[in-house]
Amino acid sequence: MTADLLGRPLRDLRLSVTDRCNLRCSYCMPGEAYTWLPRPDLLTFEELSRLVDAFTLVGVDEVRLTGGEPLLRRDLARLVRLLAEKPAVREVAITTNGVLLAEQQADLRAAGLSRFTVSLDTLRPERFLAITRRDDLARVLGGIRSVAGTPGLKLDAVVVRGENDDELVDLLAFAREVGAELRFIEYMDVGGARRWSMDRVVSRAEMLARVTAALGPLEPLPGRGSAPAARFRLPDGASFGVVASTTQPFCRACDRSRVTADGVWLLCLYATRGVDLRGPLRAGDSVEALAARLRVGWQARDDRGAELRLGLPDRGARPLASAGDLDADPHLEMHTRGG
Ligand code: SAM
Ligand code: SF4
Repeated sequence: MTADLLGRPLRDLRLSVTDRCNLRCSYCMPGEAYTWLPRPDLLTFEELSRLVDAFTLVGVDEVRLTGGEPLLRRDLARLVRLLAEKPAVREVAITTNGVLLAEQQADLRAAGLSRFTVSLDTLRPERFLAITRRDDLARVLGGIRSVAGTPGLKLDAVVVRGENDDELVDLLAFAREVGAELRFIEYMDVGGARRWSMDRVVSRAEMLARVTAALGPLEPLPGRGSAPAARFRLPDGASFGVVASTTQPFCRACDRSRVTADGVWLLCLYATRGVDLRGPLRAGDSVEALAARLRVGWQARDDRGAELRLGLPDRGARPLASAGDLDADPHLEMHTRGG
């Protein structure tokens, strides 16, 4: 096992396949104009596949495809097949906004995709339009219904005060209806969250208090190893999770890293710089040589970005990156890092 300086293994890889998105979520892409990654820099499926081979040599056994919106990447099922065929890859999962899911899910499943996570912040069409600036709730709900009941289906809701924090119970009911586990995500100040402020964060404690007040006492469930969500059982037997990255970070158990669509390796969601893997990949590094770079990088890792943010004396005063920083370097954006 390759461990970092805090003894954390490298297991979970989030592969961003595009920085483009067909929504403009208020907490992720609130801007009017964006600096996009240059097209020639985007890794091909063959390059991504070689990179994943290298990651498996240092311990990765789960790959999650993300973006931007991963379903915008043409012929994504071909990449899924390339990855799912690898004996060292136990699972290929995806995080999607669901807009294009209904039309693609059958091909993705046939190619070996094993788990879907769909982002869903609201069940109200006018609110969906206000949050995402696109009138696509019906397509998202259709996408979710098209994968209803598939094993491991999750719905992720970013809870933002004043935007959707009155919908916790409705979202729980919908998740139950489609056979999904809902996870409430605390609003984070990463990347393009230009409108973030601490008073718009609904903390895990507040979410649990609200759900308890509406539905009755919650039973804490054992965690799933390094999985970030704390899970709870409702009185009706359904379970849900809360990802409290902002108020109760889980850095000490973090076994994940991210690769942007142009091959920059980020060892922490809060990292301001990454390791360029596209250069060595295109210069002809073997899979073993790439793996050696990954091992060295991981062994030097001491990142615990969310914890450090929490400890800042001016916590709550401002988002991590300024608008100028974001325009100058799109790698700082959440839609480039993959969430
Ligand atoms: N477009 C896909 C989607 O929305 O599911 C995948 C990429 S998106 C960046 C991945 C996840 O990051 C989504 O669940 C999204 O809600 C979450 N996310 C984006 N910005 C966030 C923020 N400021 N705080 C918390 N979660 C955020
Ligand atoms: Fe929303 Fe995901 Fe697109 Fe960000 S990348 S704007 S979270 S759909």
